[in-house]
Order: sequence, then structure tokens, then C-alpha cells
Amino acid sequence: MNAFSFHHHPMLISSGARPSSRTFEGIRARLKELLGNAPLCIVTNREPIIFTQDQELKRPAGGVSQVLHALLERLGGVWIAARDSSGPGALLVPSDRGPGYLLQRIAIPGALQKPFYNGYSNGTLWPVFHGNRECVSHDSSEFIQYDRVNQMFARKVLDTLNSERPGLVWVHDYQLLRVAHWIRREAIPPLPPLAFFCHIPWPTPADFARIPEWQSLLEGILSYDIVGFQTPRHLELFLETVRAFLPEARLLSNGVVTWNNRQIRTSVMPVGIDPLHFKKLAHQPENESFARAFLEKVGIPEQRPFVISVDRMDYTKGLFERISILDSFFTFFPQWRGQISFLQIAVPTRSGQKTYKTYQDRLRTRIQELNDKWRLDEWIPLHSIETTLSQSHLAALYKMAKAAMVTSTNDGMNLVAQEFLACQGNGEGVLFLSRHTGSAHVLKGAVLIDPFHPIFSARQIHTGLMEKSSRKVSRNISLNQKIETNNLYGWMTRLLDMV
Ligand code: UDP
Repeated sequence: MNAFSFHHHPMLISSGARPSSRTFEGIRARLKELLGNAPLCIVTNREPIIFTQDQELKRPAGGVSQVLHALLERLGGVWIAARDSSGPGALLVPSDRGPGYLLQRIAIPGALQKPFYNGYSNGTLWPVFHGNRECVSHDSSEFIQYDRVNQMFARKVLDTLNSERPGLVWVHDYQLLRVAHWIRREAIPPLPPLAFFCHIPWPTPADFARIPEWQSLLEGILSYDIVGFQTPRHLELFLETVRAFLPEARLLSNGVVTWNNRQIRTSVMPVGIDPLHFKKLAHQPENESFARAFLEKVGIPEQRPFVISVDRMDYTKGLFERISILDSFFTFFPQWRGQISFLQIAVPTRSGQKTYKTYQDRLRTRIQELNDKWRLDEWIPLHSIETTLSQSHLAALYKMAKAAMVTSTNDGMNLVAQEFLACQGNGEGVLFLSRHTGSAHVLKGAVLIDPFHPIFSARQIHTGLMEKSSRKVSRNISLNQKIETNNLYGWMTRLLDMV
């Protein structure tokens, strides 16, 4: 721990003080106080809706868009994102929970999209930021396209500043590290506060320096006024990186960085969920009926306990490591064979990229091998269902499960872990949580597993399943309190505390 650690951070110490700050009404009032009638503007690469072929609106799987949609649909405001499917260039996204919001969609030319998204964002930045050296590819010409797309986002923000006049611009994630740089280059001040939130881990300085464009990226992120990270460790790594590579920057003890005659405020602001909303979804009879029918269809009988996992099919989710854990589990605890099922909702993701396609193909083979090894009559250990479910349907499955397993090898937060616990409420379902997640930092006291240590993890799962009900329930009650303290509205409050 250094001077910027959790204990010394004034923003963190102050953020829990106002009870209303954890409610929707609390942040709405706070926003009004800070921005008056000016709207909030959210900027992400991925848009929060998908137009189906029948022009229906669907919601994509993925933590960033799910949590921000949950906020903005109730608050109202503007959302700028790259256009992923058909439909108009701007539309009002309706909501039955609030006013909805204006979605401004950027059409990224085909020639830029691939080098920006598949190439630089997901081939270089994503693996480096997750500390996965084997999957890194790099091509400097892709950085040029990445930067041009960031400039396009900046121009859209500038248009919005002229039309909707937002009082705060909040840009999200690694695809958009340089948007503020371009805003400052092209805007006529004064500007509203420009905030950035890094949903994924920050890498070690040594890993970061392996990206040839590290300087442009670092200066890009320092062009924001406010920069937030998921955990104290990620913030520490960021500040270490600044200290190591930008000697002209000064780091003050309260997390402020002075650079280029500006002050950049940094803070830890872990993203959270709206637990009450998930609880409600989990109890809706139509969602329960869906979940029962779904389990029957995949071949898990009603009485059989099951352990759920829900992930995009991404190498950071530890899906191979999960198979090794299951293999150890049935090797060392054969009494569970035929008695418990593992269900994974596996959402195909980025399948157009070779690294992902290879990963997903190899994974399917490995799942087949595991199931062939442990099969017993009709029973198989792992049901891997490649689909995207709505959060309503997931909520009911979370509630019915005996346990949930999160095996990420390095994850900014992992919201599924929190959603599962919210749906369990004071139920007995146990969360087996990878220690390499931001959620493990928030959910102190959860049963931890380690995807790099399958035998340890298998033992944790066996012991966890065998625990007394009262122990399971009291743990869930205590973890739910932590989720409540760190909820979605608390996340936003931490941002507003910095404005
Ligand atoms: N999700 C969903 N449908 C699915 C699978 C996932 O809506 O079929 C949602 C899930 O509820 C969660 C998010 O996608 O809110 C995944 O977030 P997480 O932080 O766990 O992982 P990420 O995909 O952002 O890395």
C-alpha cells in the first residue's frame, strides 16, 4: 500500500457518509444540485440496444452497457455510442422505469471499425490490460485508426455540447482512452467536466510499457478531469504508471495528478448493481416459469441441485480453468457425480476475431472431453448453453441455483457475482468467487476460489456446498449488505463527489 491506497483516499472515506447517496432519488437530487437542468452525457463504444431484423429493440449482454442503461433509463440524458445494428442515427430509447434517454449513434466507417475494435481495442489493449501476454497482437497502423475513431467520438460529443448542452460528460472504458484529448484539441472552452471510468483492470507499468503507444494513451487518459477505477489496486497501478513514465507529472497525496497545467482527480469507484431491481425480477412468476422450462429443456431435472455460471466466452473468464476445477472436483469428491449439475450460460463474443474463434472452438472440444470422461447414464457434469438470456430470466435462474461459480482470471469487477447474490437474498445459494475479480474486493467474506489452483478450488466448492444452511444464509445476508453499500447509485455518487 502506498500513499494513494484505500485508507488514505479522502473520496472513499467521505463517500459512505450520506445515506441517500445510495438511492436513485439521492443521485437524482444530487445531479439536479450540480447540473441544474443540464443533462448527463454518457459515452461508450458499444450501444445499449440491438435492433433485431424485425426492428425490435433488444439488450446486449455485457456489464458496461447493462449498468449504464439501468442508470440512464431512469435519469434521462444523452448516450453517445457507435452504431452496431440498423435503425436511425438518433432515437429515444424508451423505458418503463423512467423517461428513457436520447441515443446518438455514430456510424463508424467499415474501414476503421476493424482496426479500431478487433485490432487495437481487443487485440492490443484488452489482453495487455488483463495481463494476458499470449493473446496480444499489435500493429501501429491500427493505433492510427483507433485514434481516428476516438476523434470521431470527440466530434459527436462536441455536437452534443452545442445541442443538448450536457453538464457532465462521462466516457467509459479502454476503447475511448483518447476522446478527451481530442475534445480539448477541438473545443472552445469552457467545457463541462470530462470524466472517465476504467471498467477493466489497469495493467502493471511493465505490461503497459509493452504497448508502443503508451505515451499517447497515458496523455489521453490524463486529458480527462476525473478518472475512476474499480479497485484500490487498479488505481495504485495507474498512479505507479504515471510516476514511472511521466516524470513531469506531479502526484499529490489526495489522488490528484497535476500535468500539463491541469489537475486530474483520480479515485476508486467500484461499479455496482441495483440489487432491489434484481430481487424483484427473481420473484416474478413469469421469470420463474421461464427458468423451470429452460432447465427442463437443457436436461437438468427439477429436483437436481445445479451450480450456475454466466459469462461471455472470453479468455479472461477462465472457462478452461473452470473445466480443470470441475475435473478436480469429480476426481477428489466422486460422491457428487450424478448428484449435481453445472450450468454455464456462455455468450459467444467477438467471434469474428481469430483469437476468440480459436478459444471458443477449443473450449467446445474440452467441454465434450470433460463430459465424456464423467458421464453417468443420462447425467453429464457440465451443460454449456451458448445463448444470451435477458436479465429477467437470468434472475430467476440465479435464485433457483444451489450455487454460482465465477472463475475469471482477471476481471475489473464481475457483476454476475453480485447479481447472483442479490437474487439469492437470504437464500442458501453459495457464491464461489474467483479471487482475481474486482467483486472479490467488494465482497469480503465470500467463499473464494482460484482459477489457477483447481484442487484448492474444488475443495472450496465441496466444503461450501456441505456447509450448514445457517452459515450459508448468514454469509449471504452479510454479502448483500456489501452489495447494497456499493450499489449502482453509490457508484454514481462517488463520481458526483469528484465533480
Ligand atoms: N448478461 C445478460 N445476458 C446474458 C449474459 C450476461 O444480460 O446472457 C449480463 C449480466 O447480467 C451482467 C453482464 O451481462 O450484467 C455481464 O457483466 P460482467 O461484469 O459479469 O462481465 P462483462 O461481460 O462485463 O465482462
